[in-house]
Amino acid sequence: MKDPYAVLGVAENATADEIKKAYRKLARQFHPDRNPGDAAAEERFKEVQGAYDLLSDPEKRKQYDTFGASGPGAGGPFGGGGAGGGFGNIRFENVDLSDLLGGLGGMFGRRGPSRPQPERGADLETRVRVTFEDALEGTTVRVPVEVETACHVCGGTGAEPGTAPKTCPDCGGTGVLAANQGLFSLSQPCRRCRGNGVIVEKPCKSCRGTGRERVTKRYAVKVPAGAKSGTRIRLKGKGEPGAGGGPAGDLHVVVDVAASPLYERRGADLVLDVPVTYPEAALGATVQIPTPDGPVALKIPSGSEHGKLLRVKGRGAPKLHGGGKGDLLARIQVSVPKKLSKAEKEALEGYREVLKEHPREKAFS
Ligand SMILES: [Zn+2]
Ligand SMILES: [Zn+2]
Repeated sequence: MKDPYAVLGVAENATADEIKKAYRKLARQFHPDRNPGDAAAEERFKEVQGAYDLLSDPEKRKQYDTFGASGPGAGGPFGGGGAGGGFGNIRFENVDLSDLLGGLGGMFGRRGPSRPQPERGADLETRVRVTFEDALEGTTVRVPVEVETACHVCGGTGAEPGTAPKTCPDCGGTGVLAANQGLFSLSQPCRRCRGNGVIVEKPCKSCRGTGRERVTKRYAVKVPAGAKSGTRIRLKGKGEPGAGGGPAGDLHVVVDVAASPLYERRGADLVLDVPVTYPEAALGATVQIPTPDGPVALKIPSGSEHGKLLRVKGRGAPKLHGGGKGDLLARIQVSVPKKLSKAEKEALEGYREVLKEHPREKAFS
């Protein structure tokens, strides 16, 4: 059995803090996650783990200091190791690398780069333009979206097919370099591998070593009947892919509805300008007007003023979240006819006589 003080590289009178600090540093360095397939590193990690297990427990440490590894406690507190047997069955699998890194906050400076953490992909937003009629009836549009995915040539490693990324020799794959600055030990990202822990010697030609590529995906997007300009449709999981096994972001599709030459949208209501002549407005009339569902006869009551709104129930736009349709609002536009038929002219000439007998009231005083 190795001397646990030597394994951790601390003095025999080291404080509990010094032991903890030394342990964290070494455990980070030799953690199996950082050294996949490296048996020597794994062996070192077990030693470090075993040494810390012993020295972090005041009772065990006292026993070791008094009797040494082969003292009365051998086989007890030190596991079944015996002479030269190492530290035995230490369950190092339970020690998570991110715990070691995360536990460094505060006094030991900022957290260094580590294995990619699961991260949700970014949300994307795109706009679709639909015709006025399509917005009323609902439609399906195909939306192109550019997203970043793993390179299809190298599968995301960034290394030319047939080669593999290598463990960074500078940091031993940890991605961090510890720089001792007096009292504090600061972890800095390794410059050579930029904190990745691996270096790519032959970069993939397709993605130039980035491991990522942008592809255009096309999604069929259902625009609901009654959609308005600004209506948002969310496609869950169709945004940027996540990193490190994280979920993809969402795609937000914003609808842009083209204007109609005929109708003006007011929520689920539609406003339609209806030109009428003065006699029609004065005497009342029935006129044919268009609606999205076909023409209807509109009864204009006598004495209708310019700008008056006449409501035609249920002939507007569909309400977005169910519940039938809005109304059509016919807006009376009293207009002066530019041309009159002979009959119309004769009829209006008769009105001239009325004006002579009953002069109009002064409009202004
Ligand atoms: Zn590639
Ligand atoms: Zn490195």
